[in-house]
Amino acid sequence: MSRDIKTKGIIIKKINFRETSIILDVLTPEYGVISVMAKGIRTQKSKNTGLLEILNELELVLYKNPNSEWYIYKSSNIINAHLFNIDLPTGILMQAAVEVIRQIIIPIEDSQEIYKLLETYLEYIKTVKKNGIAIFWRFLLKLFRIIGIEFNITNCIECSQRKHFVAYFPQKHGFICEDCYRPVYDEKLFKINSNAAELISKLNNIGKYLNEISIPKSTIKQLNRIFITHLSEHFHKNFHLKSVELL
Ligand SMILES: [Zn+2]
Repeated sequence: MSRDIKTKGIIIKKINFRETSIILDVLTPEYGVISVMAKGIRTQKSKNTGLLEILNELELVLYKNPNSEWYIYKSSNIINAHLFNIDLPTGILMQAAVEVIRQIIIPIEDSQEIYKLLETYLEYIKTVKKNGIAIFWRFLLKLFRIIGIEFNITNCIECSQRKHFVAYFPQKHGFICEDCYRPVYDEKLFKINSNAAELISKLNNIGKYLNEISIPKSTIKQLNRIFITHLSEHFHKNFHLKSVELL
């Protein structure tokens, strides 16, 4: 009986293995993130090698070894080569999403939704001309919601009111308003500038504002730091986002 499976997948990690093979991490809708071994793929002059690139979305035929976690690559068809003909900043924003997905644990029951989210993000980010980083942050907000680590970007964690934020409070997973802020908290929180505060409050509907705002470097730094800290707090490990440092 054949154990071949067919699945859609987006390549989120690729490493060369030994002389001729490739190991892939692939996000799939049904199986979460799977490890795929493509044996001998780098020796063949087949078209297959070129298909196995980071961020390619493929229709895969795999063999699942019943005694191991590994999937063995058999063949694939390209659905979408997301990085093809993409400018560098857009490519970085695509890589950033994948970089986060690589570092979190994806529950099988969420994989369909996360797959859809990533697919939509990769398609959408290509069309964005300005302030793409804000679309990346919105992607993170949606991801947090799916995996159950949402943080409140509209109300103060102390008074629950919708007021102007002045700082992010990592241990409380939220923001603090100007009225609740006390200097005594200083070492526990990150102060944010008013540009960052304004942006955070708009993030859920950022599509509407994308062409009218400008995001200074200092704000990019502050927001990246907040998102990375939020992830690190929840997963109890250090997250990094090397890709966005290049922006
Ligand atoms: Zn407050």
